[in-house]
Amino acid sequence: MSKVWFITGCSKGLGRALSEELLAKTNSLVVATARDVSTLNTLKKEYGDRVLTLMLDVKNSDHIKAAVDEALQKFSRIDVLVNNAGYGLGGAVEECSMQSILNVFDVNVFGLMEMTKAVLPIMRSQNYGHIFNISSIAGLVASAGVGIYNSTKYAVEGLSEALSMEVKTFGINVTIIEPGPFRTDFLGDSLEVAPALSAYGDTAAAQARNYRHQSHNKQNGDPVKAAQIIIQLAAQENPPLRMPLGNVAMDKIYLKMESLKEELTKFEETSRSADYC
Ligand code: NAP
Repeated sequence: MSKVWFITGCSKGLGRALSEELLAKTNSLVVATARDVSTLNTLKKEYGDRVLTLMLDVKNSDHIKAAVDEALQKFSRIDVLVNNAGYGLGGAVEECSMQSILNVFDVNVFGLMEMTKAVLPIMRSQNYGHIFNISSIAGLVASAGVGIYNSTKYAVEGLSEALSMEVKTFGINVTIIEPGPFRTDFLGDSLEVAPALSAYGDTAAAQARNYRHQSHNKQNGDPVKAAQIIIQLAAQENPPLRMPLGNVAMDKIYLKMESLKEELTKFEETSRSADYC
């Protein structure tokens, strides 16, 4: 039986690559969603009834409800949810306005949570489902200059880890995708950058601002290969909880494991001394 995939943020980037790979190379049915549904016209034209294209801003509860209802009406089930919609906010923590912070949490965290809550009852009733939450290496390893973005993806990691324990019993898998730098529009127009404060002039946070210009369109990560890996994982009976993608992601995780271990060992005695006995 063809699987039904529901994907957020399909106008471009990773979500677009995944929709195209699924439609071109598998027999899956795809609910491709985007804030501007006209960006999906070429998918509709090429793949007809195998794709349902819907307008969906993940900040809008009415859009989420309507899109999930339409998906069910059209395909009768949702097997795989890919919470992909998201964007970066650059700037030191102090440089980011509260409005920008709330906006990025609305999309990267609360939108993802609301989508998940809308689809879970369907997956439970099927006794089957797979939720892919697109986090980031920034959800495991923080960097100066992207602390707010880090905190959105750390939230995705914690939620996903707990969710996987809660829903395994209903036949639902959760996989957290942790890409390193991938060649999408992430560092292009999609990125919001906070106005600089002069006090941060020669700090690590300020140096991070140059990263965008140095790296946009030069990232090593290939979105099509990322899409192919996600498709392979969805076919596995026991998929992993975490899937870092690319060399940068793998190297950063190993470095963090080493530094965590070093610090834990150094302060182990102090830590253990905090108990009553
Ligand atoms: P991208 O090319 O900028 O694509 C981002 C997608 O998210 C676009 O389709 C965008 O739609 C959509 N989006 C943004 N806000 C939305 C909203 N409110 N409602 C619905 N859709 C919305 O970047 P990408 O790299 O493919 O990003 C996909 C995911 O990967 C994100 O969660 C990102 O944090 C994560 N990620 C990316 C990288 C990387 O280096 N590329 C690394 C780690 C993690 P519009 O066209 O309407 O803006």
